[in-house]
Amino acid sequence: MHSPRPRPTELEARLERAKTDFARLCRAGLKIDMTRGKPSPAQLDLSNAMLTLPGNGDFYQADGGDTRNYFGSMQGLPEARALFARVMGASLERILIGNNSSLALMHDYIVYALLKGVPGGWAPWGAEGPITFLCPVPGYDRHFAICEEYGIQMVAVPLTGSGPDMDVVERLVLEPSVRGMWCVPKYSNPTGETYSDEVIQRIASMSTGAADFRVFWDNAYGVHHLTEHRSEIANLLHLSQQAGHPDRPLVFASTSKITFGGGGLGLLAASEANIAWFVARSSKRTIGPDKLNQLRHVRFLRDHNGIEGLMAQHRKLLAPKFKAVEAAFARRLQGTNFARWSKPLGGYFVSVDVHNGCAMRVVELAKQAGILLVPAGQTFPYRRDPNDSNLRIAPSFPEVEQVAAAAEGIAICIDYAVAERLSADGKI
Ligand code: PLP
Repeated sequence: MHSPRPRPTELEARLERAKTDFARLCRAGLKIDMTRGKPSPAQLDLSNAMLTLPGNGDFYQADGGDTRNYFGSMQGLPEARALFARVMGASLERILIGNNSSLALMHDYIVYALLKGVPGGWAPWGAEGPITFLCPVPGYDRHFAICEEYGIQMVAVPLTGSGPDMDVVERLVLEPSVRGMWCVPKYSNPTGETYSDEVIQRIASMSTGAADFRVFWDNAYGVHHLTEHRSEIANLLHLSQQAGHPDRPLVFASTSKITFGGGGLGLLAASEANIAWFVARSSKRTIGPDKLNQLRHVRFLRDHNGIEGLMAQHRKLLAPKFKAVEAAFARRLQGTNFARWSKPLGGYFVSVDVHNGCAMRVVELAKQAGILLVPAGQTFPYRRDPNDSNLRIAPSFPEVEQVAAAAEGIAICIDYAVAERLSADGKI
């Protein structure tokens, strides 16, 4: 982003003050990790009752099946699928529950697609030259890492505040090598934005060059509200079906940030054809998922109200941390145009755009001050932010006092880096 340039004397004074504050910050000896969106120990404690479930005795699923043993549906326990039907926006027949990671389901869908081809396609995705995925930016680094790992080309598409720029998307998807698109439609990682109904309708109905084009609809933050307002998004599965593209969407979610990051459930909802195809592929890889963990989740969460109730408790722990970031940034940077930052209504991140060319410097300064941030560029395909501007802040894990201290420190680093840059530019 470009900032109106302050007068040289003001800038010099600002830089001097930032340097003094930065020296004080370094002396404070902070050691705070703001890199990954991990639930805090207090959040994990909310689900500790699950650790004693299903208990030493009642390990039978509703139809009498013994969850300790092999077999049962590859799609997972029917009652577990019913529990997540509202979260997934699909009936239980169209839901598959894997083990603890939705990312693993995304990964596996892509690898199977590359090796075997998908319903509606005429060849494996890996059979003809390189394929391409559209990547709304800034986005989730691990999505981009899957593409990089398997040689899938990535094309960045700008986000607008209510989803990707659909004029750009509609033009790019006409190219037959474009087979996929990553989307985090609600409280997006990292921008926090939620896709508008219009954007979702356009994604559902757009014409694509490839008949087997897929939307990887990663609804990781579907119930992760930070305010009392629970925003809802349009149902891509229904809209795509109505538009004649039932196999287009692959809806992913997980309980990694509902129950346990290391012991949750990964979920996929899709058309009958996609689910049958995925089951056929993954049944070569495993005899079945961890059914005990599914039963544990059913017993603990019980129903959709149980999920919402637990999420309200998460919100109580998380919202003050986001407020602390907002307060620290506003105190130091409001009205400067050195940076603009998101004020998310949900999800796990604050996205900051600093003056162009300053993001790497901010990360470097923060590291010197003992505050760890994800490397600048990580939110873009190939880890290259063309403007060197975007930073992702993850306030969930540290204690609220630490988040406040880290946010103040980051604001000082931004002040320092941008003032330094502007004065260097002024001298050229
Ligand atoms: N998708 C998004 C957008 C995320 O931000 C994350 C974690 O930060 C994940 C997926 C990981 O999900 P899981 O733990 O289910 O693999």
